[in-house]
Amino acid sequence: MNILFINLPYYGHFLLTTGLVQELIKQGCNVTYLMPFDWEERVYESGADFVGYENHKKLSEQIKNAYAVADKIAKDYNLIIYEQFFFLGKHLAEKHGKPAVRIFTAPVTNEKLMQEYISAGGPLGIFKYKWIGKLWTKDIAKGIPMKTDCWLDEIIQNPPALNLAYTLKEYQPYAEDFPEEQYKFLGASVYDRKELEIDFEKTNRPVIYISLGTVIKGATSFFGKCIEAFRNERVDVIISVGKNFSIHKLKDVPENCKIYNEVPQLSVLRQADIFVTHGGMNSISEALVYGVPMVVIPFMSDQPTNARRIEELGLGKKLDYRMINSELLRTTVLSVMNDEGISANVSRMQKQMLGAPGNRGGADMIMEYYEKLSR
Ligand code: UDP
Repeated sequence: MNILFINLPYYGHFLLTTGLVQELIKQGCNVTYLMPFDWEERVYESGADFVGYENHKKLSEQIKNAYAVADKIAKDYNLIIYEQFFFLGKHLAEKHGKPAVRIFTAPVTNEKLMQEYISAGGPLGIFKYKWIGKLWTKDIAKGIPMKTDCWLDEIIQNPPALNLAYTLKEYQPYAEDFPEEQYKFLGASVYDRKELEIDFEKTNRPVIYISLGTVIKGATSFFGKCIEAFRNERVDVIISVGKNFSIHKLKDVPENCKIYNEVPQLSVLRQADIFVTHGGMNSISEALVYGVPMVVIPFMSDQPTNARRIEELGLGKKLDYRMINSELLRTTVLSVMNDEGISANVSRMQKQMLGAPGNRGGADMIMEYYEKLSR
């Protein structure tokens, strides 16, 4: 089977899918990955063949450029796989009479969830004005007959027959809205990645890992409160402050606190007893795979929803960043770390993550779907 895989140039959205590409290749498929020209090397590393489109700073132009190339080559493939933000994927597949599979590198979005993400601010925040979404869509989908007139509605209201999401059904918010035959949950895609090395040596003290991910700019005052919170505790603290943060701004750092611009998060999580996180989807999934309870301090986009899910599922607690002080941080982190109920829930979730279909199961689902259609 010849598969055309279409994606947009965002690390998380691309990297999570490389394991699926590898599994499809193992099953005998030829996979061609359509990505911008400057992603060629990463595509080849995944094992797929590469076809390129012109990259651009703007998402709207990326979608247009990807569509123009995909429209020319789609006829040569048996099946089209696309990531949710390439919202023209379903139309493209129908136009060329091909079956389509959609990938969500995070939970599946419905109307309620989309509204939550939009109202939390961040990159989707601008679409709180519906007319902006419509104008944007009109420009991208010029001459293309869409089912709806807004790209966000298109994602929600025009799903293909098979949708694969990188989360667990138990984690998926509003899971009851997604019919089982059409929506499959693969669990996490924690890919095997080359990681940095750091000079941290594990002692017999509990390890607290703190990171706000790669997008949020951590303020000196926030990291200062983290340092104060655990200065006199019998714990080791690892803080990843982000690549552009000047570590020397943090004064009087105690011996039990190690600060880095970036850490090998997977190996740190393997040693961590608790994770203080901003609640990015990758961080949440990685913590669940490694069985680490969380204190989530959300800022924007999907983070507040993730924080709520973590609390609802008894996997940790959420804190409001506007209320943070070192005492609140200390008591919350220590209470979550010592909570047997949370620890049992986290272990149960970890088992589910490890037993989830994953990329191999996802590839089987795609093959079965295609075979069923071909019969
Ligand atoms: N990450 C890392 N080292 C760090 C900080 C983050 O490897 O010091 C990785 C982390 O493992 C995760 C990604 O960066 O895969 C962050 O993604 P997430 O969705 O959690 O948050 P974002 O950065 O997109 O806000």
